[in-house]
Amino acid sequence: MGRAIAIFNQKGGVGKTTTNINLGASLAQLGKKVLMLDIDPQGNTTSGIGVSKKDLEYTVYDLLIDAEFDTRKAVMHTNVEGLDLIPANTDLAGAEIELVELDGREQRLRHAIDRIRDDYDFIFIDCPPSLGLLTINSLAAVNGVLIPIQCEFYALEGVSQLVSTIDLVKKNLNPELEIEGVVLSMFDGRTNLSIQVVQEVKKYFGSKVYSTVIPRNIRLAEAPGFGMAITEYDPKSKGAQAYNAFAIEFLEWEGAK
Ligand code: ADP
Ligand code: MG
Repeated sequence: MGRAIAIFNQKGGVGKTTTNINLGASLAQLGKKVLMLDIDPQGNTTSGIGVSKKDLEYTVYDLLIDAEFDTRKAVMHTNVEGLDLIPANTDLAGAEIELVELDGREQRLRHAIDRIRDDYDFIFIDCPPSLGLLTINSLAAVNGVLIPIQCEFYALEGVSQLVSTIDLVKKNLNPELEIEGVVLSMFDGRTNLSIQVVQEVKKYFGSKVYSTVIPRNIRLAEAPGFGMAITEYDPKSKGAQAYNAFAIEFLEWEGAK
């Protein structure tokens, strides 16, 4: 059965979507079957992997609103072999409100994902930067949470709220839920600040912090504009090397579970 992981940090711009696409692509290139679910109404994972947000036949919205929906119908293949996507567009913004009225409003994504769990080794959910029902549905549906943290001033701001949200969902909706790991992103080794942030995050999360650190790399910021994972866009770049190394470390951790 596939392991489902939410990529979550309620702060925007910390590298959630970049990690979703590039960890997903690197794992697929290592031979794993990977599904990415885009549950952010901005649809950045969708466009970032080269799928147009216009004219989508089905999206995550259908999974959430129609309890009988056949999840497989919404799955799209990407240009990376072994990497599939359930896309999102702005329809999802409405789901946040529509869900309030629906039965089992916090567990709808879990039921939708259960239908396809066996098709994949890993299912990643790219969460929106908020603590609303879309995020709650994601946390209720997964085995673990992968937290990207940006190496910048105020990196740990909001982290205690993030951890208490995870604890709350664990207590009330999903007793299995655990922190999968914490990955530091946009590291700049030339600055003391980046080095300091790494130390602080390690102090807070201890052994949950991956030793692979994702550097700030302009190629990583360019790749989604071309609808490509970094390993396709510029396989020799520092960003591609980092996500490949991260995928290997990620698998080692998974194997040790
Ligand atoms: P989030 O999904 O948490 O909002 P993103 O992954 O979209 O964050 O990243 C925010 C912005 O920073 C995007 O423009 C992205 O391309 C860029 N970015 C992400 N990671 C890196 C990195 N390691 N180096 C350079 N730019 C990055
Ligand atoms: Mg994002």
